[in-house]
Amino acid sequence: MPNKSNTLENKLKQAISARMAIEDARKYQVDILSNFSAKLSLSCKGLDTELDNRLAKFRNTLNKGVSFEHLLPLINDILALLKNQEAVQLAHQRDLYSSVQNAGQQLQKTKGLPDETRRTLRDLLNNKIDDVQSTHDFIPLLDQLVTFYHEALNIKLTKNTDVQCASTPALAQRLLELANDLILEDEATKEIQDIKSKITKSDTMNALLNAAISIISIVVKNINAERESAQSFLVSLNQTLEDLHNSIVSTSKHSKSMGVEFDSLNKSIKTKIQNLNEKTQNATSISSLKELVDKELKSLSEDFIAKENLERTDREMLLTSFNEINGRIGTLEGKLSKYKKRLNEQRFKSLLDSLTKLPNRAAFDERYNHELHLFSVQSSDVTLAVIDVDHFKSINDRFGHTAGDITLQVIAKALQKSVRKSDFIARYGGEEFVLLMPGTSIENAAGPLDKLRKVIKNIPFKFRDKQIEITISLGVTQFKKGDTSVKAFDRADEALYEAKNTGRDRLCVSR
Ligand code: GH3
Ligand code: MG
Ligand code: MG
Repeated sequence: MPNKSNTLENKLKQAISARMAIEDARKYQVDILSNFSAKLSLSCKGLDTELDNRLAKFRNTLNKGVSFEHLLPLINDILALLKNQEAVQLAHQRDLYSSVQNAGQQLQKTKGLPDETRRTLRDLLNNKIDDVQSTHDFIPLLDQLVTFYHEALNIKLTKNTDVQCASTPALAQRLLELANDLILEDEATKEIQDIKSKITKSDTMNALLNAAISIISIVVKNINAERESAQSFLVSLNQTLEDLHNSIVSTSKHSKSMGVEFDSLNKSIKTKIQNLNEKTQNATSISSLKELVDKELKSLSEDFIAKENLERTDREMLLTSFNEINGRIGTLEGKLSKYKKRLNEQRFKSLLDSLTKLPNRAAFDERYNHELHLFSVQSSDVTLAVIDVDHFKSINDRFGHTAGDITLQVIAKALQKSVRKSDFIARYGGEEFVLLMPGTSIENAAGPLDKLRKVIKNIPFKFRDKQIEITISLGVTQFKKGDTSVKAFDRADEALYEAKNTGRDRLCVSR
């Protein structure tokens, strides 16, 4: 019996340990699988938010070590989402395919791409792209395409300065306006003329950049000259003040030493007079008195002469020093008034257009705002006309920039002569002028303005023995209640636009 029960007990023990071994092995496998699924789920992260949420929940549940029944619904949800994801990925891949194809085709159209790059690109678009099986396969292709783009961009950047681009004419126009606005010493005028003529002829960005640099260097040169002139004025002011100081110090030193001499002379005179007084009282005879008085008076008069001399020298010295100081102050005043005049001229010049000598845009803006303000308080009529020379570019193109400049000067002079004293005419920029007619309604302005148009049309311009007719177009408006500077100007501009579009050489009104 004991034998039998022993055997049973052994068998039970064996069965238990076998079962434990199986359970251990299973636990080990489940652990590995859980770990594997957790890692796998992490690798799917980022594809889709919903999927991410489910996977996170799945990993949490796995970590808690719950039973398979709890995991199953989660796994099913994830499987459904993954299936959906497959379709999404496929669509992405198709998009990627077509955008790589498009980008490549665009790049093929770029001018100046090296032959080698062009060949490799063609191969990429015709063959390689068709072999792509997965999104991963796109990465090397994209990498190559980006390199090609980089190459093309570099070529564009280095060439761009030499090519004409859409903004070149606008830049040229702006540079010309800047050149016109420069107020410089006379010797710079010729340089500016040359730059302007270069700007008109240039049609590449590079040429315009060079012109801009030339303008900047002229401005810098001018600023330096201006600074030097201010500096030299300050140096001479300083020098004069120093001389003045020295002169005052030496005069006062001199006065002090003179004072000492005066004192001792005065003392000596006083003593001599006292002596004379005492001695005359003690004199016993007329002859001894006479002898005494003669002697003492002689010595006294010597002292008086010395005193007089001393006074004269003192006066002379003071006078010289005073004259000297006066002279220096005079020179300084001269310099100061010259400098003041220069500054005033600068201010005046800065409101004048250097080519036509008409008021410039800054001067116009000042007056325009003033008239607008007056209008807002007084409401008396003000007419504004914007005047633009027709086909002016062709004058430059056919006869050169200098001829163009002279034409502008002639037109400006004619305009100036034809307007009334109360009108204000300015060169707004380029071949554009503006006219303000205070106290004039549009009805009253139309006649004189049309006369102005005819005056310009009748100027007998002659270029290279050719008679040329130059015309202007005018856009006219009248100040209205509530106008801002921009509003009124825009109306005049609109009218000018209409005049240009309906045949030029005419006046259009915008109310
Ligand atoms: P539109 O009748 O449409 O006004 O034609 P346009 O040729 O007059 O007008 P556009 O605006 O095309 O050209 C104006 C020209 O004026 C271009 C520019 O070279 C020239 N210009 C501007 N300022 C000056 C200058 O100070 N001197 C010279 N000579 N030309 C200038
Ligand atoms: Mg024009
Ligand atoms: Mg114009």
